[in-house]
Parts: sequence; C-alpha cells; structure tokens
Amino acid sequence: GRPWEIKKVQTTCPYCGTGCNFDLNVKNGKVIGVTSNLSAPVNGRALCVKGRFGMDMIYNSNRLATPLIRKDGVLVPAEWDEALNLVATKFREIKETHGANALAALSSAHCTNEENYLMQKFMRAVIGTNNIDHCARVCHAPTVAGLAVSFGSGAATNSFEEIPDAQVMFVIGANPTEAHPVVGTKMKQALAKGAKLIVVDPRQIELAECSDLYLRLRAGTDVALINGIMNIILANGWEDRKFISERTEGFAEFQDNIKNYPPDVVSRITGVPEEQLVEAARIYATADRAMIFYTLGITEHTTGTDNVMSLANLAMLTGNIGKKYSGVNPLRGQNNVQGSCDMGALPGDYPGYQKVINTEVRKKFEKAWGVTLDPDMGIMLPDMFAAAISKKLRAMYVMGEDPVVTDADANHVRKGLESLDFLVVQDIFMSETAKMADVVLPGASFAEKTGTFTNAERRIQMVNKAIEPIGNAKADGEIISELANRMGYPFSYDSVEEVMEEVASLTPLYGGVTHQRLGTQGLQWPVPSVDHPGSKVLHQESFTRGKGLFVSVAFQEANELPDEEYPFLLNTGRKLSHYNVFTQNSEALGTYSPEELAEINPQDACRLGIKEGERVKLASRRGALETKITITDRVPEGMVFMTFHYMDTPTNVLTNGASDKVSKTYEYKACGVQISKI
Ligand code: SF4
Repeated sequence: GRPWEIKKVQTTCPYCGTGCNFDLNVKNGKVIGVTSNLSAPVNGRALCVKGRFGMDMIYNSNRLATPLIRKDGVLVPAEWDEALNLVATKFREIKETHGANALAALSSAHCTNEENYLMQKFMRAVIGTNNIDHCARVCHAPTVAGLAVSFGSGAATNSFEEIPDAQVMFVIGANPTEAHPVVGTKMKQALAKGAKLIVVDPRQIELAECSDLYLRLRAGTDVALINGIMNIILANGWEDRKFISERTEGFAEFQDNIKNYPPDVVSRITGVPEEQLVEAARIYATADRAMIFYTLGITEHTTGTDNVMSLANLAMLTGNIGKKYSGVNPLRGQNNVQGSCDMGALPGDYPGYQKVINTEVRKKFEKAWGVTLDPDMGIMLPDMFAAAISKKLRAMYVMGEDPVVTDADANHVRKGLESLDFLVVQDIFMSETAKMADVVLPGASFAEKTGTFTNAERRIQMVNKAIEPIGNAKADGEIISELANRMGYPFSYDSVEEVMEEVASLTPLYGGVTHQRLGTQGLQWPVPSVDHPGSKVLHQESFTRGKGLFVSVAFQEANELPDEEYPFLLNTGRKLSHYNVFTQNSEALGTYSPEELAEINPQDACRLGIKEGERVKLASRRGALETKITITDRVPEGMVFMTFHYMDTPTNVLTNGASDKVSKTYEYKACGVQISKI
C-alpha cells in the first residue's frame, strides 16, 4: 500500500483478559486510531473505553526509547550492546559467586505467550533456576491452584459466547461492567433476555443495581456464605444426586463439613439476612443451568484458594459444570495472564502446568533444551523481596511489571529491591520499579510485535505487528534472546512462529496451535493436535482429573480486621476507565476519573466531619497516604474503597502483605486503616 493509505491490522487488546480484537489503523507508519472488526470472535463490534481510546499510550512521552545504565547513581542512555553485555556479565558473575538460585525473574502478563515462554526458558535453561514468577501470583494464582485441585485444570470452564443466553448468573467478587466491560455487556444482554442475576459483593457495584438479588456480605466471609448456600441446597434436596454420584468424589466428608454452616450461623458471620441466603440458593440450584463468575474479590484473600474451591463445590453440588451455560468462570485480569501461566512463568510449572518436581516431565524438558534442570520449585513472587533482604537473592530481572506500585505492602517491596546487588527492568514505560534499576531495557508495545495472547476463556489469539518499535526499543522476546546468546546458550529462532512451534511440541494443551491456525478467530485450549478444533466447554464427559473433587473448606476470617486503632476496612478494586497503573500513560483515559476518590459511607463521613472532595490521611500499620474522599452509600459503614490506579495515591503502601497459604496471593481486599482529617 501507499504510505498515506490507512492500513488496518487486526490485533488483540492489551488491557483486560476479555481479549477483544480490533483493527489498529496505521497511516505513515503510525497508529492513528482503533476501529471495530466485525469478525472479532469475542466482542464483534463492541469495545470498552480502554480498547477504544487507550491506544495513545503507544506514543506517551513516558515510553522508554533507549537502554539506560546507572552511572554515578544516575540512569544514562546507553547502546544496546553495552547494556546487554553488562547484564550478561553481571548475571554470570552472580551465578558463579552465589549460585543460580541467587537470581530471580518476574515475567509479564502484558507480554505475549512466546515472550513468556522465552523468559521462563531463559531462567531455567540459561540461568539454571526455577525462580520465575509473575503477577498472576498476586491475582489469580488461587484460581490456578484451587480449580486444579477440584477439577484438575485451573482455568475458566466455559466460553464468553454462552453468556448472552445464560439463565442464571452468580457474580461474586467481580465487577464486570468496570473491570471486564465487554463481559459486563454480555451479562446485560442476558438480563434483557430474562436471565436472573445474583450479585455478591461488599460494595454495591453497578451490576448490583440490575440484579434480582444483591447479597452485601462482610468482606472476606465468602467461604461461610458459599457453605451456607450449600447447606440450604442440601436441606431442600436441591442438589444433583446423579451428578454427584457419577462424576465426583469426596462428597460424604464435604457434606459433614457443610452441616456446620446453618443459615443463622452464616447470617451472623456474613451479615447477609437468612432469607437472602435461601433465595440465592433457590435461584442458583433450581435453575437448569447457572454460570458462576468471579475475580479478585474471591482470590485476593488469605483464603483465596479456599474461596475458589468453595465455588467449585457449589457448581458440582448442583451439576452446574461440564455443560454449556454453566461452570466456574474466573474473569482473568490482565490481557495475557492466562497465557503467562500457561507458558510456565511460574516457579513450580513448566509450560502447560507440567510440574518441575515431576522427574519424567523434567527429563522431557532437559532433553528438549539440552541442559540439566533444577529439580526444586523456585521462589514465589511475594517471598522474593524477603529473600532479597536476607541476601539469598542477589539479582532480579523484572519484565513488564511494576511491583513497587502493584504489590501489597509496597514499602517492604521497595526495601527488597533496594537490597539487591543488581536489578534489571525491561519495560515499555519508565515505571517506579524501573527508576530503581541498574539497567533499564526498553521493550516494544503490543502494537510493535507479533505473537499471541490467551484470554480468560482460554482463547489463544494473534497479536499482529502494526508499526515498528518506538525509538530503539525492541520486542521483549528479542531482548531475552540476545541475552541468552550472550550468556552462551543460543536462542536461535528465525521467527516468533518458531517459538510457538517449540511451545506446541512440549505442551499438550497447545499441541495443535500454530500461528496460521489461529488466524483471525483464535483457538480455545486444550488443542491437543493440529486437527483438533479447540475446546469451548471443559470437563464435559469427565473432569481433567477424572472425578471432580469435593473439598471440605472451613471459614477463616481475613488476616487483619478493623480494630480500635485502625477502625475501617480497606477494600480495593478497579474503575472503568483505568487498567491498574498502565492507563496513567494514556492521556485520553486520564481525562476520565483523573484522580483517586476514596469512597466512604455517608454515616462515617458525618461522624468524622468529612465533606465531599475533602483530602484526608489514610494510614495502616504499614504506611500512609493522602487522598480525596467521595461520599457514597455504594460502600457500607466501616469500609473505605480505593482503586490502585494512581501514582500519587499508592494504595499498596496500606495493603496487607499477608498471603494465601497455598498460592501466596496477597490479601489486597481487606485490611485495617484509620482516616484522619488533614
Ligand atoms: Fe480491551 Fe477488555 Fe475493554 Fe475488551 S473489555 S476493549 S479487552 S479493556
């Protein structure tokens, strides 16, 4: 085409895990806009404000365009050769002096599958450690762990295309119209067709307003609530006996545990009236088909894995799993958080959830990669900072993550990173973590590279290069490969497609995936062979693990509850026009909701003498910040709600670093804070 003509390149949205496709409009080598692509498999014509208007981040002045090296305490521009040679030399030195396990990496849910594959291969085969993790650890790791125990497969069971025809939707700890807006739109389509909606959330989210039943539970009491609903289902004989006996195991023990959760007890724990619990049980259990949706309100608790397994119990009890219009459907957060887990950016899993502690699996990867691999699990993300402070960890390679802002107890994270001998950050923006680095490597944005993302319904989709990288930036996969080459283990791939071929050869879930097959519609895993059409609904004839497992789960309170000193419960979440801190780099989106407005209830505002828009100080046991207040009865008395979108109100200095016992996911959703007037 001629340079002045507009070229349209179909690609996948870089913001949330819904995985919408659209066309980047390119003129003279520059992205000038976004238009809908009617053949987009997930979203058709629909896009949310982030997908529609958030692409100006590609050209934001905060983009990194050249490598930087710290000299005399200051980050100064450098040539690629100098920067990469320095990183390779330092990594080699640290490995020789302190051993491979003194190094760790964070991979990225924003990067492609191929890049995540290369990053974990770099750490395992080139460095020689399983110290590789990423932000799934702090969002949906309980999903991966919990559903793997219950069903054998830690991913959403059903497909987005089923939502508009759903009969019952049970939405718990999720805010789809803001955090996954195109999913939220599909839910509203279902409502227009007569579907019933139950919303469970301590905060009255927008979807609660159009629900048939809204249960305002006390934050962190999900296990009690779900057990209570199951107690009522069993008391009324609404369970699916045939499904339970043919498809599951562990029922007898589970049933004994559920006896401990009669409605009056559960009502006292959760604050939800008994009649609402009964109504929720009736609507969910007596429907032919009912879909469960959840997200971080379930997972980001010290009981995150228990919460997930409770939802799996609920679906199995009523036979609402393994068929269309049913299932347990975690709405995965970031664009490629499903894919980065699938690719093994996890300390205990090779690609496709194949365990590093399994000798046979390890031998397969040793043979393919031609190295000896570490047989032990690596360190999980939250433990990396303590390991850095104790000098067990000496160097970190952070790709496309900003843990100083996004991890709980941010002051502890900062201290950990400061304790390292050497920190490399590879990002597209000058993040808060990049500002602390010894070397900063500029990555290319999604518009500047080819690869694949996997969305929350397991759909692997193409990301197609539309423009050349900005300045001297390079695709992350290219940077990792150049480092591997310099460290004496050549990554000699001729194309990104070749990386996917290697993934497919080693990963049964992706066995039949090729870029060519993905085309414009993608494929939903498992895709075991090249003639397999992909899988819309999981666990149809049998569960991945054979029989579904009922797990007896006991209720436990959140790690830190409000008390006299810190009398408010801090709850966190997202706003429609923002995506984590990423959208701070979009001027267009910055014009919507430009600042934090912490929500408090009118009764609390009145008691504290706080007016709408007033600035206050919020403090927890770990840190303090100042923020503006908005007064709304969306939050109950005793609760403060904040997002985590703004650099000048870094919510995570307040949040609790206590974590789920299985997955180590932080309890972002509940901690004690105090509010004081400034
Ligand atoms: Fe992008 Fe998610 Fe919005 Fe779709 S719903 S356009 S994937 S941010």
